[in-house]
Amino acid sequence: MPENSLQRVIIIHHSEIALKKRNRPFFESRLRANINRALVDVRGISVQIDYGRFFLPLPDGCDVQRVIDRLRHVIGIASFRIAVRGDPDPEILKDQVLDAITGQEFRSFRVDTHRVDKHYPYTSVQVNQIVGARIQSATGAKVDLGSAEFVIKIDVFNKCVYFALQTYAGERGLPVRSTGKVVSMLSSGIDSPVSSFRMMKRGCQIIFVHFHSYPFTEKSSYYNVLDLIKILTVYQNSSRIYFVSLADIQKEIILTAPAKLRVVMYRRMMFRLAESIARREGAGAIVTGDSLGQVASQTLENIAAISEVVRMPILRPLIGLEKKDIIEMARHIGTFAVSTEPYDDCCSYLLPTKPETKAKLSEVHAVEEKMGAWQSLLDQALASAEIKTIRFP
Ligand code: ATP
Ligand code: MG
Repeated sequence: MPENSLQRVIIIHHSEIALKKRNRPFFESRLRANINRALVDVRGISVQIDYGRFFLPLPDGCDVQRVIDRLRHVIGIASFRIAVRGDPDPEILKDQVLDAITGQEFRSFRVDTHRVDKHYPYTSVQVNQIVGARIQSATGAKVDLGSAEFVIKIDVFNKCVYFALQTYAGERGLPVRSTGKVVSMLSSGIDSPVSSFRMMKRGCQIIFVHFHSYPFTEKSSYYNVLDLIKILTVYQNSSRIYFVSLADIQKEIILTAPAKLRVVMYRRMMFRLAESIARREGAGAIVTGDSLGQVASQTLENIAAISEVVRMPILRPLIGLEKKDIIEMARHIGTFAVSTEPYDDCCSYLLPTKPETKAKLSEVHAVEEKMGAWQSLLDQALASAEIKTIRFP
């Protein structure tokens, strides 16, 4: 049978949704919407749900590689496979499978049948045996139930049967937008894109905020951050980002605060701004890429001195991770290369050689009292923020 006469579908398995008993319809509809959204530019394709399974019928002439690439980046998919519709009679099916695998080389294989509809007149073991015997006699390959080189998956839905020759791993996690909205503080370093991604995988929609010191520093962090958000937007399809200038506030801090306290003071201002943005956007938490002890601002004392300025929960998904593991995740997401390009960070702007690692609240409060008008500077910074939206595809 020529390949294009076979009806092909992608069968998608979702990851954690099954655990959420009563909320299942909600999580499913989120995932379905996200898959459709990720494929908006592929004509004639949309998810259908049958027997609680997600099916994506592939229209003729469809760019299958593009569909595969997109599905790999949809959070909430555990795995998916491209399947061909076969005959429900295993005696016919066995030859269809054999035709489809012609040209493939393997020394061991296994047929793995799953009956979704138990009305089907054969058991899964019977289907495995009938199809398996045919393949074995035609190819001479060994049946291996443990670690076969090649696995043929058969899904039986009563009147229709699908067989698949290749399974792709998905990104797993909970579908984006299923658990809420958060504001993520994004620098152009390695950690914060990873922390944003971790929260996306817990179902959050991310609003980004980046602080810069332009015109005191170069605009390089701006472009790096845009590149990072483009990469991250592949996983949530649409991102809003606030670029906020800290320049005037930093000037004030430099004039008032002891040099060693600068970073903590900058950070307190950043968190206040992030919280205002979160309230405006209806977000429920602030996300950062802190990892305990990694740099001077990330000691328990400094985290306390920084966190006290906001009332919203602060999520730090990397707090207990080692750099090595964070780097590995950054490589997986695809942000590592951009994050390691040189850039001007607003927090390295006029940094002392010995920053405070144990900021005292009393000192920090005294500095802010002396500064006086910082609230109006924050209001101005927010009012002049540049807000951008990035979409994918
Ligand atoms: P990263 O690699 O994310 O920059 P880092 O190890 O360099 O992290 P810090 O510079 O201390 O750590 O920043 C800690 C966290 O504060 C970052 O992960 C990020 O969430 C936030 N942050 C730092 N700088 C900025 C910035 N310019 N704009 C927005 N958020 C920032
Ligand atoms: Mg940084």
